[in-house]
Amino acid sequence: MTDNLETRLIARGIKPTAVRLLVFREIKGLNQTFSLHSLEARLQTVDKSTLFRTILLFHRHHLIHSIDDGSGAIKYSLCSDECNCEIEDLHPHFYCEKCKKTSCLTQTQIPKIQLPKNYVLSSINFVLKGYCNNCK
Ligand SMILES: [Zn+2]
Ligand SMILES: [Zn+2]
Repeated sequence: MTDNLETRLIARGIKPTAVRLLVFREIKGLNQTFSLHSLEARLQTVDKSTLFRTILLFHRHHLIHSIDDGSGAIKYSLCSDECNCEIEDLHPHFYCEKCKKTSCLTQTQIPKIQLPKNYVLSSINFVLKGYCNNCK
């Protein structure tokens, strides 16, 4: 991953405006998954609807991927530079039932599931639950 935030936004077809760079820098610094709500709390200088639109834009351009960990709030995490959010790029996620943190298990591939005839796969939500290293 390059460290230049501007270059990374441009590589994803996102125009690097000041507010987008600010949001991206915050996300990158987090180094973990986040919800829109948790980001709002950290970026109080950014207008909420602007922040929401920025996250949607980042998501649409595959700068971040979304995770439904069953906690009720959609979480997001940065995509690797090679990720296009295709089925092959997806990875499992781990939800800690104690600290409520969700992590990307990027070293692991989602097993191929044999689908019945004429079924078409559009997304996979593979979430493991338990206790993380800090909570076990
Ligand atoms: Zn934990
Ligand atoms: Zn992930």
